[in-house]
Amino acid sequence: EGDRKGWMDRLKAGLRKTGTSISTIFTGTKIDDALYEELEDALLMADTGVKATNHLLQDLKQRVKNSKTTDPAAVKALLADALADLLKPLEKPLAIGEHTPTVIMVAGVNGAGKTTSIGKLTKHLADHGESVLLAAADTFRAAAREQLGVWATRNTVEIVSQDGGDPAAVSFDAVSAGRARGKDVVLVDTAGRLPTQLHLMEELKKIKRVVTKADASAPHEVLLVIDGNTGQNALNQVKAFDEALQLTGLIVTKLDGTAKGGVLAAIAQEKPIPVYFIGVGEKVEDLETFNAREFAQALLA
Ligand code: GDP
Repeated sequence: EGDRKGWMDRLKAGLRKTGTSISTIFTGTKIDDALYEELEDALLMADTGVKATNHLLQDLKQRVKNSKTTDPAAVKALLADALADLLKPLEKPLAIGEHTPTVIMVAGVNGAGKTTSIGKLTKHLADHGESVLLAAADTFRAAAREQLGVWATRNTVEIVSQDGGDPAAVSFDAVSAGRARGKDVVLVDTAGRLPTQLHLMEELKKIKRVVTKADASAPHEVLLVIDGNTGQNALNQVKAFDEALQLTGLIVTKLDGTAKGGVLAAIAQEKPIPVYFIGVGEKVEDLETFNAREFAQALLA
């Protein structure tokens, strides 16, 4: 599973960019309103959002009261507990094997790290002995297809690709081929788009409908890739894509270089969709399963 410590260090280094590192708040001598106000500012700066910030502060005050502590240093550990509890519902492994093939549709805005994440996921699955078929449903950009082709070659997995044409048709063909060839997983890569591009959102819905025509129980997973560095924007994307597609999971990328890691708390508070994986670097092995406690500790390190 790679080097746990290495990626935790990168995660911490990224999350430390929060400006006012949250942990410096607990170096004073008193637990008072000033401490909570500083903490509120730091959480908002980290894109935790108003709702999750309020929740965390209330929860923390209760924990401080229950513990009867007067030591600010102890408050930090209680905050880590509160944050880990808030994030816990996001912790869920991606289940493969209930359906053959497991059809996973992947969406996201351009630049979020979708293609990279699909490459990482392909390797992760292949390493776990799953046979994968890639569907290049981004039929518009030749570069996107080529990049996916590179991942397919590198992992020696098959790819269904088509120059131009209808992304829904490619997806249909890929799922049909996946069934015929007995693949464990079909990964459908869709073109990047903004939730405000309504015709493109309609196209995504169509891809999903057509995938269901190829396999009545599919898609089994609808994933959104979000850039953890975009903070509250990422939360808005989760809400919009979920409305269009009923998301089943998230991949949160670029957490190795972000000052906005608090957005996961905002997602947990406002749209708790499981985070199957987090991206902590550009390399193919820089994909990790999400662990609420580890993440909470890294955010407060
Ligand atoms: P797409 O447009 O959504 O397919 O985005 P790409 O997969 O092409 O990624 C956009 C950029 O983000 C590339 O330069 C990737 O190397 C980079 N990237 C993707 N995931 C991560 C990550 O977890 N950490 C870092 N640091 N960079 C990433």
